[in-house]
Amino acid sequence: MEIEEKDLIRCPACEAVNIDKGRQNSCRRCGSQIYKHKHFRTEKSWAYLITAMIAYIPANLYPMLITKKFGQVEESTILGGIVYLWEHGSYPIALIIFFASIIIPIIKFLILIYLLISVKYPLGKDKKLNKHKLYYLTEIIGPWSMIDVFVVAILAALIRLANVEIVAGTAATAFALSVFFTLLAAQAFDTRLIREHR
Ligand SMILES: [Zn+2]
Repeated sequence: MEIEEKDLIRCPACEAVNIDKGRQNSCRRCGSQIYKHKHFRTEKSWAYLITAMIAYIPANLYPMLITKKFGQVEESTILGGIVYLWEHGSYPIALIIFFASIIIPIIKFLILIYLLISVKYPLGKDKKLNKHKLYYLTEIIGPWSMIDVFVVAILAALIRLANVEIVAGTAATAFALSVFFTLLAAQAFDTRLIREHR
């Protein structure tokens, strides 16, 4: 008898591989009940992803940087900061922040949305697009989004010396939350679904 990969299920308690015998399975090693939640396998990832996208809105609307110089308070959003840096000739920093806080998060949202939809609906089935590679791309670029928060921290430390006080605004918290929940969404995504829906 040939056993295919799709007929195997993993015990959630002891990780032993079992042969799927239909509706109810008990682990051959530890005897735990193994339930298959086929219909709810993308919901957790969706929930994290939607949270991340909601957090991304205040991250762009609220000030990322608050500068205080001689009692004058100035606030700038992510986009405002990018424009400001660009206009003042800080092209590399402007580009880093643009990629880390605009391009990378949006690419990650789109990849995860695509993956989550494509494992449920026949989307891109005939295409040569490698979904595993797409998924690992989100894993690789994920932590790099945080560069934005680091840049704010470094700027704050540097500029403090020049009599200007910089604090991270509300957007920094929202942005960090957005990155965090995107990471959770990617982690909650069940990569086995890609194989099953190939
Ligand atoms: Zn077990």
